[in-house]
Amino acid sequence: MRLSRYFLPILKENPKEAEIVSHRFMLRSGMVRQNSQGIYTWLPLGKRVLDKVNAIIREEQNRSGAIELLMPTMQSADLWIESGRYEAYGKEMLRITDRQERAMLFGPTNEEVITDIFRSYVRSYKQLPLNLYHIQWKFRDEIRPRFGTMRSREFMMKDAYSFDLTREGAEHSYKKMFTAYLRTFDRLGLRAIPMRADTGPIGGDLSHEFIILAETGESEVFCHRDFVNFDIPPEDVDFDSAEAMQDVFAKWTSVYAATDEMHDAAVFDALPEGERLSARGIEVGHIFYFGTKYSEPLNAKVQGPDGKEHTVHMGSYGIGPTRLVPAIIEASHDENGIIWPRSVAPFETIIVNMKAGDAACDGVAERLYEALTNAGQDVLYDDTDERAGAKFATADLIGAPFQIIVGPRGVANGEVEVKDRKTGARETMTVEAALARVA
Ligand code: ATP
Ligand code: MG
Ligand code: MG
Ligand code: MG
Repeated sequence: MRLSRYFLPILKENPKEAEIVSHRFMLRSGMVRQNSQGIYTWLPLGKRVLDKVNAIIREEQNRSGAIELLMPTMQSADLWIESGRYEAYGKEMLRITDRQERAMLFGPTNEEVITDIFRSYVRSYKQLPLNLYHIQWKFRDEIRPRFGTMRSREFMMKDAYSFDLTREGAEHSYKKMFTAYLRTFDRLGLRAIPMRADTGPIGGDLSHEFIILAETGESEVFCHRDFVNFDIPPEDVDFDSAEAMQDVFAKWTSVYAATDEMHDAAVFDALPEGERLSARGIEVGHIFYFGTKYSEPLNAKVQGPDGKEHTVHMGSYGIGPTRLVPAIIEASHDENGIIWPRSVAPFETIIVNMKAGDAACDGVAERLYEALTNAGQDVLYDDTDERAGAKFATADLIGAPFQIIVGPRGVANGEVEVKDRKTGARETMTVEAALARVA
């Protein structure tokens, strides 16, 4: 992408409304724009990051055996009345009446819709286990939307729903998602800690929140320091093996971790001082096993091997992609801007041409741009005639892992500079060496 032809509305000033660093940098770098309270447009730079986050989520969901579909954002109230949640959900649900006076709503979650799909098609235990997911907009009329897309009213969620014949099967499904989540957050450059959680309006009796430690987090959390060093399950972990899933689950639940609602001070305080970690955290994912809470009222049954009808056991599993983007920024930035992990960087390399219009500089910059683009990299070429200082500030702000700086003095010697955004280290090298460095 050539910056001269891109749409990158950078803000020079710090927006007054932004209270936390991720919100500030997302506005300043032109990733998002508020449309109305808690409702955002994802501008091109932000859209790139969101797409990469979703791609990783999707890969790990698919790897675990979950199957993608796409349910609507608008739902009829009927199913919610049937499940008994229509009144119970309260004011967070945006209720709408259509022109035929039918009660509709903008889905805050999808247990009812998916259970209806399930009961319409699945009749036999032979079709189980089944896990269906989608990545779709949700709306919750949050009483206090804030921190940009961290807590917005319209937000994206990956929500998966598992169906099993037995509780035992459902627990295996739960552990599969648990494992997929550990891998997902790790690939996003985050250390997310699974903490026993309250189940809230979703209901149920087994639940973990995946929490990222950050000073600006809204939850108060307590956990063992060992979580920092636990190994992430490998790519080839066997999701079909109940034993392998149990091993992962056992390891990652072997030491203390709880949010404030579930906190047991007596147990936590008994840990040696050096092993205790009490901090603020951001909830980026939440998984639930809730048995027959929805399958019972909605009558989702299958025929078992015994020839009898069985109400299916269900779980639901959420991740918030539009919250993850600011969460990654909270975890990885400095005073100059964002430091993207490569896996989700909107651009992996930014080529800064310090003297656009100079034939020698243009030649080298174009050559780099072509080589990296052909190699399949996401590269931004700053070919504008801004002054060098402004270009450096923009490159740091939008936070690509590498910058290649092309200036007249270096080019005269056949050299360019490579800057590592994370360490700030700058090194002069040949064009070939620079290409190898950022490869
Ligand atoms: P919170 O406690 O932050 O209000 P929640 O517990 O209500 O979140 P869940 O119903 O567990 O949320 O939804 C699953 C995931 O969706 C959350 O873990 C979070 O990542 C994301 N999410 C929920 N509400 C929002 C929101 N208002 N804005 C952005 N993401 C959200
Ligand atoms: Mg909430
Ligand atoms: Mg919560
Ligand atoms: Mg939750």
